[in-house]
Amino acid sequence: MSADYTHLHRFLGRDSVVAATPAALLQRNLSRQVSCFPGFQIRLKCMKTVELPDGTRVPVLGQGTWGMGEKKNAHAEEVAALRLGIDLGMSLIDTAEMYGEGGAERVVADAIEGRGDRVFIVTKVYPHHASRTELPKACERSLKRLRIETIDLYLLHWRERTPPLEETVATFEKLRSAGKIRRWGVSNFDVDDLEELLSIKDGPNCATDQVLYNLENREIEFDLLPLITDHQSPFTCTIMAYSPVGHDRGLLENKTLKKIAKRQDASPAQIALAWVMRQPGVIAIPKASNEKHVRDNARSIDIKLTKEDLADLDREFSPPKSKKSLPML
Ligand code: NAP
Repeated sequence: MSADYTHLHRFLGRDSVVAATPAALLQRNLSRQVSCFPGFQIRLKCMKTVELPDGTRVPVLGQGTWGMGEKKNAHAEEVAALRLGIDLGMSLIDTAEMYGEGGAERVVADAIEGRGDRVFIVTKVYPHHASRTELPKACERSLKRLRIETIDLYLLHWRERTPPLEETVATFEKLRSAGKIRRWGVSNFDVDDLEELLSIKDGPNCATDQVLYNLENREIEFDLLPLITDHQSPFTCTIMAYSPVGHDRGLLENKTLKKIAKRQDASPAQIALAWVMRQPGVIAIPKASNEKHVRDNARSIDIKLTKEDLADLDREFSPPKSKKSLPML
């Protein structure tokens, strides 16, 4: 069996790399057992992936960091949780200059120490730092806190009327040419913002729109998700679903979710994550500081929701019937 480690190594844990297999397997999004020699089976922890517009594949399940880096005494636990997640294949890490005012980026830096070649780092800039003069400075500060040379994906955290979108996009493109970022995207952009983005120079280079999406917040299903997933659509960007397990606001206590979890021999969080990831091209970024939660979330990759599960979830959390503006946390 020939092996191409280059791609696998970036996203998988060390064990999986040792057990590497052709990149074709990764491209087929498989998590499976492979026979190499008679009687010898290897369990591949092959994380399913999503293709970004430039062809780069990233894990469909990543890790969030909002709330991390705020308390010194939680630092070790947060670093350990992120490291465990990376080793379980959740090697896309989402952070922002806003989280803990740089504290979360510092936690990420410690978590990826020695693992930098197999993580995909997403961070976000405040809109008030998104001007021609401020954006390069904010980017340098993030790079310094993260202790990396290039940000894999740099997002505008949310839209404000100033600076003009054209200015932010042009500056993102300059940072890309300078090798400071590999690609850029946006967050909390509803359809009208995306349409405006598409109309400006280099706007279609947007790699992702990070938005609120979970069982209780299905607003994007009405028009934003169809706009992006429609093959005729000029948009090729992916959706990154934030707060996928409901931001600790009671979603996981829902009776229907618990019933389905029992039926699937899974946890409510695993069902909530599997439900988000059922949509092609949608990446989920749950945040977990607790190692038990990290392990729980990693296992959601193997859950296959049945028609009955999906119908029960639709009855409990109905899909949108009309346009509602995109909520934001
Ligand atoms: P979330 O991931 O839906 O929920 C996080 C909460 O759920 C934490 O309290 C966590 O607890 C708990 N949790 C995680 N896994 C669990 C499990 N298996 N079982 C039980 N509880 C579990 O909410 P979020 O943090 O708002 O969203 C995720 C990430 O998206 C953020 O961290 C951030 O990176 C990003 N985000 C972006 C925006 C934006 O404007 N772009 C907005 C919000 C969030 P522990 O921490 O104790 O493990």
